[in-house]
Amino acid sequence: MTEKKFPIVFDNHMHLREDGFFMDAVREFSKAGGTAFNLVNILDYRVNPSDYYEEIYHRTLRIKEKIERETEIRVLISLGPYPLDYFYFRDAGLDPIENMKKGLDMAAKIIREGRADAIGEVGRPHFPCENNIVDSSDMMLSYAFDLAKDLSCPVILHTEDLEEEGYSSLEKLVLKSGLNPVKVVKHHAYPSDLYFRSNLTRSILATRKNVRDSIAAGKNFMLETDYVDDKYKPGKVIPANSVPLRAKLIMGEYENSYSILENIFITTPEKVFGKGSIDARTK
Ligand SMILES: [Zn+2]
Repeated sequence: MTEKKFPIVFDNHMHLREDGFFMDAVREFSKAGGTAFNLVNILDYRVNPSDYYEEIYHRTLRIKEKIERETEIRVLISLGPYPLDYFYFRDAGLDPIENMKKGLDMAAKIIREGRADAIGEVGRPHFPCENNIVDSSDMMLSYAFDLAKDLSCPVILHTEDLEEEGYSSLEKLVLKSGLNPVKVVKHHAYPSDLYFRSNLTRSILATRKNVRDSIAAGKNFMLETDYVDDKYKPGKVIPANSVPLRAKLIMGEYENSYSILENIFITTPEKVFGKGSIDARTK
């Protein structure tokens, strides 16, 4: 008996390292039925600040190339300055804003060339910090929204946990740039966030409970693992095959599983990344 499979199974947020589990993690994802994921650059503060973004973006593109050469997985790429880069540049005696803006410009250039798909993850540190850091982060975020508007590309947000007001103030910032708020994705959102009135897209960590609670909300959402691929801290995150395993859970537990999966893996990602952008590849 062949197992039932949904044709597109998309993880909206993964990180991979060339010196991590890397291809093993990809094969684990693929074996469980995964077909596409959004690969977000991962920080590495061992890299020299002077050519920081050039190096980490280049690595991310190289990882995609290898995966697409060796597997049938479709890889989307998100590039951008991680919010905590602020401290990395500041501690190196450099101007964080100047350097992170350069990082945003470089990401925009690569997206314009058609080599990457989204700006991210960008935003604010996820823990309380000085007001001026929050203000600078918001300023860079506006800059990112303006670039995304020009490119008509998505923005993946990394922020503190948000209440409804937090979502609406971010949406105002997005609207100021003219970018469609649906193309802005709150990464690491909670199922309860789905009840907030907001046009931002929510991407939910793919635990069993989250999946069931999100389906109960009856709204649009995407799923993610936020896999960080660290050989020295295994178990810190949910496994790389979690999203495809949750697709199977949905197929087993829900009468209307097809329309639920269609919403999570086709309709919602297409609104964010564009039609056909995560379709299955044929080698
Ligand atoms: Zn991340």
